[in-house]
Amino acid sequence: MKRRTKIVATIGPASSSKEMLKNLIIEGVDVCRLNFSHGTHKDHIDVINTVREIIKEINYPVALLADLQGPKIRVGVVKDNGVNLVDGQNIIMTTKSMEGTAKKVSITYDTFPQDVRAGERVLVDDGKIMLEVVSSNFKDEVVLKILHGGILSSKKGVNLPNTKISQPSLTPKDREDLELALKYDIDWIALSFVRSARDIIELKHLIKNAGKSTRVIAKIEKPEAIDDLDDIIKAADGIMVARGDLGVEITMENVPLIQKRIINKSIEHAKPVIVATQMMESMIDNISPTRAEVNDVANAVMDGADAVMLSGETSVGRHPRAVIDSMNKIIMRIEDQHRELYAREIEPIKNQSRFITDSICFDACRLSKRTNSKAIVTMTNSGYTAFKISSQRPEARIFVYSGNKKLLTTLCLVWGVKTFFYDKMVSTDHTIEDIKYMLKKSGYLIEGDLIVNTASMPIEELGNTNMLKLSAID
Ligand code: PGA
Ligand code: MN
Repeated sequence: MKRRTKIVATIGPASSSKEMLKNLIIEGVDVCRLNFSHGTHKDHIDVINTVREIIKEINYPVALLADLQGPKIRVGVVKDNGVNLVDGQNIIMTTKSMEGTAKKVSITYDTFPQDVRAGERVLVDDGKIMLEVVSSNFKDEVVLKILHGGILSSKKGVNLPNTKISQPSLTPKDREDLELALKYDIDWIALSFVRSARDIIELKHLIKNAGKSTRVIAKIEKPEAIDDLDDIIKAADGIMVARGDLGVEITMENVPLIQKRIINKSIEHAKPVIVATQMMESMIDNISPTRAEVNDVANAVMDGADAVMLSGETSVGRHPRAVIDSMNKIIMRIEDQHRELYAREIEPIKNQSRFITDSICFDACRLSKRTNSKAIVTMTNSGYTAFKISSQRPEARIFVYSGNKKLLTTLCLVWGVKTFFYDKMVSTDHTIEDIKYMLKKSGYLIEGDLIVNTASMPIEELGNTNMLKLSAID
């Protein structure tokens, strides 16, 4: 399929059967997301195995993304599974486990009484319930005033936008989940509630110590992360605009501009960026999206996101296939018509170690544009040129050839990239001819199409990309 913006789908009960998963992948899911906030390890392992079986059957790659819950805070179990909080009254939050009432409810955040200050906001259930800290005994209880009440039900999420949270960014649960993700060689690991670049660096240390090189996505959903955005983008391999929690933590009206800022910065740094949450929310129940949702997906594509993400829509929704079909249609229409999407012309920075490679990637895209070439082909073992060429958003297709099997699945998240396995290494000229022959034979290109190749010469040195070739398919 000639779609450039990728689709990430969260897999859950509505999509984890082999039949459904295969249908969704064939219809266009590029990345399967395992949400470690839900499900057991067995559930996730089953999905991993099923996806890998499907990859073998369809013979093209799909990426897996493990999303770690991070220090997500929740209220405990509540009496009758729901109590009514009345405006103006007080409620106590305790770090002790208990069945909650309208007067007292437990919270899964041990150092809450020590971390909060009077006057700070506490938001429950996506901000539907708003509380303000009155006082704390600095031990196990905090008194809060109910500013906006409502029905509080069990295990709802809690956001503390103003509080300096002392919990570590990786909880004991995250460490167990990380172990599973590494054991099963998942392509991407996303970390929730990232507060600083340090969180990412620490996670990368753990991955490296386990002898792996799994790539890390920083989920931007805290105000602190916005303040440290540049360094987080530099430290991470990918970024997620996690609008669900972000919209509560920084107030929703700030999200649209911040979405654009995060996307632009990520593209500048050649890091793939995902726009997530509530993109097709109404399709959890309905067979078609609202007009506003269509606009939202379209705007994310116009902003230049690498991928759009589905959560409940594909994990627990009633119409997972219709969701992918709708997304396909919206994305294809925008990519077909919105010229501003293409040719970013991000100038390579001089005096950088990769200046030669960056320059080749930059000019490959320029050359493809001026000559109306149909494809840019790059061979890579690290993926570097694939990320770089994609970040220029060329209109030509990006075909990536690699002998690194892990990379073939990993790059499924990246805008415009299509990967193929290739491990022959005769000579550059021979490789280019071989690839052109295969692309023509499998129908990706036809006689007369122009194609831009990047390569490293001499080939046997496995050095940095330093060469550009323009030729026609014959
Ligand atoms: P979540 O992350 O679904 O794990 O909460 C996405 C978001 O907050 O938008
Ligand atoms: Mn979140």
